[in-house]
Amino acid sequence: MGTGERLLREADVIREFFLPLTARDPGAAGLEDDCAVLTPAPDTQYVVTTDSLIEGVHFFAGEVPAFKALAVNVSDLVAKGATPERYLLNIALPGPPDRQMMGRVHAGLAAAQEAFGCHLIGGDTDRTPGPFTLTITAIGAIPSGRTVRRSGAREGDIVAVTGTIGDAGLGLRLRQAPERREALGLTTAEADVLKERFERPRPRLAVAEIVRTFANAAADVSDGLSKDLGHIVSASRCGATVDLAKVPLCDAAQRLSDQGRVSRTDLVASGEDYEVVFTMAPGRWRDMQRMAEDHGVAVSAIGRIVAPAGVVWRDEHGDEITLPTDGWDHF
Ligand code: ADP
Ligand code: MG
Repeated sequence: MGTGERLLREADVIREFFLPLTARDPGAAGLEDDCAVLTPAPDTQYVVTTDSLIEGVHFFAGEVPAFKALAVNVSDLVAKGATPERYLLNIALPGPPDRQMMGRVHAGLAAAQEAFGCHLIGGDTDRTPGPFTLTITAIGAIPSGRTVRRSGAREGDIVAVTGTIGDAGLGLRLRQAPERREALGLTTAEADVLKERFERPRPRLAVAEIVRTFANAAADVSDGLSKDLGHIVSASRCGATVDLAKVPLCDAAQRLSDQGRVSRTDLVASGEDYEVVFTMAPGRWRDMQRMAEDHGVAVSAIGRIVAPAGVVWRDEHGDEITLPTDGWDHF
């Protein structure tokens, strides 16, 4: 696990590397009690989610994806309209922790909690016979009754997506085979941005406000836009028609698509975007756009919710195309 000086005790790890991340929250009790205590504000609900990153499954050996571990959880909260507040960290290490390794965990989490406005309140630290694993459980707050579910889409709703789609999928492909950069005609700067999108996703808190103000249904885009929209449609027992050409791409991805080097169908299935796909009443579109512009968030309309079940994708000629709705699946 890295080469730094060996740390001897679990308690040292907690005090030195985790306690400073608690922002002196009294509920965390200095990480010296069995449990943390949460005090909900009046008329507030907690929204809770958990996600693990496992070496060899979600990240490459030697990496310490602490920033991403928090980001992927925050992405789930944002997609429900909730504001991240606190999180728990379970860390399983295959060997004794050293200072350099724990310093990287600390630095990644410190940057992420600064970016997302939340802090640590507890967790668990273990040795494992398996791979290095980071599990975060994140807790967000939302005014009571305002959580946006996958199941709320209504016929006639606009299907919208934030940001750009497919960047992280391209970034992953560049990580797996760096020689692809030249073959694809990407500059090093473009490749760096795409890899950054994979390694340090940045869900935006402003999207939580947009979702809870305007969305009837929402999901974060983690398994691929095609699959995640499929989740909304099946939970809402409706269908959707979507224009592949309207799916927002970054300039580099757009160029690769124009040149026929990358297909839009691959980009919408690639996953790890950590954007939000949502549905909303068309009559509120202009108000939504105003809020999005005020926050510097790009939101694109890509389709409509319709009565029949399933997602129908159309190409630039309006012809129906079949897209795999199965996206990323661990098994
Ligand atoms: P217990 O033996 O009761 O399970 P632990 O020894 O696991 O307690 O943990 C002691 C304290 O340290 C608890 O407050 C726990 O939340 C905190 N803690 C342990 N590991 C972590 C971690 N990885 N991140 C944050 N807090 C942690
Ligand atoms: Mg414990």
